[in-house]
Amino acid sequence: MKPMPDSTPTQSHEAIMIDVKGLVKKYNQTAVVKGIDFQVRRGEIFGLLGPNGAGKTTTMEMIEGLRRPDGGTAIVAGYDTRKAQDKVKEVIGVQLQSTSLFELLTVEEIVNMYASFYKKSVPVAPLLEDILLKEKIHARVKGLSGGQKQRLAIALALVNDPKIVFLDEPTTGLDPQERRMLWDIILKMKEKGKTIVLSTHYMDEANILCDRICLMDQGSVVALDTPENLIRNLQSESAVQFRIEHHEQVDDARRQRFTEQLNRLEGVKHVSVQGDRITLYTDHLQEALVRFVELAETEQITFQDLQTRTATLEDVFIARTGRSLGEE
Ligand code: ADP
Repeated sequence: MKPMPDSTPTQSHEAIMIDVKGLVKKYNQTAVVKGIDFQVRRGEIFGLLGPNGAGKTTTMEMIEGLRRPDGGTAIVAGYDTRKAQDKVKEVIGVQLQSTSLFELLTVEEIVNMYASFYKKSVPVAPLLEDILLKEKIHARVKGLSGGQKQRLAIALALVNDPKIVFLDEPTTGLDPQERRMLWDIILKMKEKGKTIVLSTHYMDEANILCDRICLMDQGSVVALDTPENLIRNLQSESAVQFRIEHHEQVDDARRQRFTEQLNRLEGVKHVSVQGDRITLYTDHLQEALVRFVELAETEQITFQDLQTRTATLEDVFIARTGRSLGEE
């Protein structure tokens, strides 16, 4: 007899693990998440990148089933978060903020306690080894460093061997060495086949870790693509940034005229003004620079802090919203 066709979902990385449609959250009649749509694919690291207050946490918590949406749906591994919360809980892992950990328990005790909440769980020792905390197995939580607590919070998110892991700003407040260590751990989680949803306001972190990035601002999705495509679609390879010297002494009309002329310069694709900082985007760097210096001379505008650089995700955000991501 011929075997029956396999009815399990396809293992292709294109399989959809999270399907968000028209998701809305309101507080006091004001929408802080304004009807967003996106899909997360199996095995990818999906980034929610945006400044503080963009709605990243609210979005994640609605998908996790922790906050009730005021509209729209979130389907997680085939289950509707509003209708099948128990099923969703079995397949997801959520990194809690480390401040909510029980300080007096040891690392082993707290992992075992979390494991007891689930029908199935992974053994403690290999879990702690993956998260580089094995030597701290008998240490009390209160003696751990900030980075170690953060790693423990991630270990707790993995205790039920989830298919999807949610990490909300996992490296905020960590020093550069701890951040890099955490990035390695997150990349290893992906290698092991986890689907990861990560929120961050650090563009370097999103760029390094994420397969695709959903750029969020003021409760909306402003762009969604791979980091490479987001930058490529900016259609500008380089950014030229400078400040106008004695900005406050240049009157508004003159500044406005200068900006308009910059916009019309040959080779310049886009101009962004943020206070006294002006950024030109171009894919003809040399030509744009020469024309810019000529224009500044003619207009008797003195510039300072001139820098040129390759366009980044920060530039994508500025081009889409007119504002900066507010990097720390
Ligand atoms: P992010 O994670 O991108 O920093 P949040 O999702 O935390 O953004 O917040 C989005 C907006 O929703 C912010 O303006 C925030 O003040 C507001 N907000 C979040 N939670 C609540 C709440 N429980 N009550 C009222 N407003 C809230």
